[in-house]
Parts: sequence; C-alpha cells; structure tokens
Amino acid sequence: MFDSPHRRFNPLTNEWVLVSPHRAKRPWLGQVEESPLENLPQYDPSCYLCPRNERAAGIKNPDYSSTFVFNNDFAALLADEIPSPDSSHPLLASVSERGICKVICFSPRHDLTVPELSLAAVENIITTWTQQSVELGATDFIQYVQVFENKGAMMGCSNPHPHSQIWATEHVPNEPAKELIHQRSYFNQHGHTLLSDYLAEEHKRKGRILFSNDHFTALVPYWAVWPFETMIIAHRNFGKLADLTAAETSALANIYKRVTTCYDNLFKISFPYSMGFHQAPFDGQLHPEWTFHAHFYPPLLRSATVRKFMVGYEMLAMPQRDITPETAADRLRSLPELHYKQP
Ligand SMILES: [Zn+2]
Ligand SMILES: [Zn+2]
Repeated sequence: MFDSPHRRFNPLTNEWVLVSPHRAKRPWLGQVEESPLENLPQYDPSCYLCPRNERAAGIKNPDYSSTFVFNNDFAALLADEIPSPDSSHPLLASVSERGICKVICFSPRHDLTVPELSLAAVENIITTWTQQSVELGATDFIQYVQVFENKGAMMGCSNPHPHSQIWATEHVPNEPAKELIHQRSYFNQHGHTLLSDYLAEEHKRKGRILFSNDHFTALVPYWAVWPFETMIIAHRNFGKLADLTAAETSALANIYKRVTTCYDNLFKISFPYSMGFHQAPFDGQLHPEWTFHAHFYPPLLRSATVRKFMVGYEMLAMPQRDITPETAADRLRSLPELHYKQP
C-alpha cells in the first residue's frame, strides 16, 4: 500500500484531497464536553507544548519565554523526496506531495489565548509567522505557505495550549488556488485588485464593517457562510506577511487581538474558530492581483454550545445561513472592546 503523503484528484469537482497515510497516532488533549479553554493552569505538566515538557519521541521543549517553533512531530507532510503514487487511470489521478509542517506556540503560558496576550506578544507572534513564512517560502520545492490557527476542541484542536500551525506545500492548495484564479481574472479585467475594490464598497456602506485601524479592516464578508465569519483585509496591496511594514505588523496585531476579543465577548467564552492568512503563492511569480487577508471561520451560532453544522444540503448542494451577515456584524460591533475577563 502506498503510505507516503500525496494528493488525489477529484475529477467531479476539479479539486484535490491531501492524504497522509503515515500520520497514524496523534495525541489528543482536548476534552470535548466542557469548554476546555476555561480555567486552565498557567503551566500543565502533561502538556506537550508547555516549556520544559517532553514531546513525542522523547524530545524536550526548551524553557522558552516568547514564541516557540518546532517541526510538527505528527506532520501531515514530509520534506523528503517521496516516490510518486501509481496513477493507473486518468480518473484515479494522484501526485506525491512534499511539505513542511511547523507548530508555533504563542507563549509559554498554557492559559493565555490571543485576546488575553499583550499587544507586544501578539506582535511577536506575527513576526514569528513572518520569519517562518520567509524561510519556508524560500525552500526550493515550496509553492505555498499556509499559516493557520485552530482554536478550541470544537474545531478539532488537539491541545488547548495556544498555538498555530504552518503547512508549507509543494503545490498551491485548493482554496488559495481558487482565490488566485478569481483575483487574477478580476485584476486583468479591471486593473485593480478584487479585494481593494470590495473593501472600498464596504467602507461606503459601513454595515458589515466591524472596525478599522490605519492599515487593516475587519468585516463580516457579504458572502459569509459561517454565522460569525469575518475577514481582515489589508488596506495596501501586497501579497505576503514578509511585505508587512513595521507599522502594518503592529496594526495587524491590533486588529487580530480586537477581532478575537470581540469573539470571546459574544458568548463570554473562549470562542472557537479556524483562522488563517491567505498570502500570495510562493511560486516565483509576481502577484499584483493578490491582497493579503485573513479568514476567521467560527462554528458557533447562538450560544457556547449551539453550533452551526455544515451537513445535509450544505454538504450536498451549497452553504446556507439563517442570520444575515449584516445582523452578525451588528452584533459583533455592539460588543465592548475590553475582554470580558479583564476587570
Ligand atoms: Zn501547555
Ligand atoms: Zn482568502
């Protein structure tokens, strides 16, 4: 049986699925019943992400004091040369997929999520993502660097210690590949970027905007699928974390902390979500069509426990939502800016 990482082509949808057969046993620390992000200790001796603790294969974490980056011990992708899988028929197409998976701990504190960290600490996280993106993006076989944060057991996060991941891959994955096609065709047709034109329209209308600072705007996109889905969009046109100026790095930290604070305040819980940056591909080409942005996909709908499921019609036909993006934006915008845990 072929047991190296590879991607398989779905000819019905023209999309790919990543298969990681070697990734058998991953540790699971998340407890699903209660909100596992409440009342955590500052240090957990059984956590494989806390400073000084042991990870897989007996590797010991350093006594780190800010961010801490390591290669994922249970990586879905491997950097080694791997054989190509046998594609015996055009309808059974697959190609090998090399890649590098990293874990980035936000801080030594087991109990502090982004909205609870200082602005300087959040800025440091962004600087770490930037450095990692530059390094991974310069690797010869890498074409895409996906930075993402999975927060909460509800999102399948296996450890409550605040952390994010980077998966850097040999091919551009489905979502950024689709966004590349549509941003490029818009740019070629109009001479400006799709997201800068979109942002200008949203600023005229105001209804879906949560807040802005000098360099970024947070909003509920017009086409949002998840109940409280948001995007952070850069005001200036650039494609990558590495293009951030010092002022933009601070501004991104500011808005990332504000969005996540707003989320926590919505139901007064540590709010679960999947978040990630969409940078331009690392394919050696210029990407004037690309506007750097982030997506937040939170599953919660009405309370700490009532979530939106993407099932039935959504799986088989198309996404559907009840609460409108405008109502979601109103609710998020009306929340206090101070985190609910702060006195
Ligand atoms: Zn920990
Ligand atoms: Zn995107």
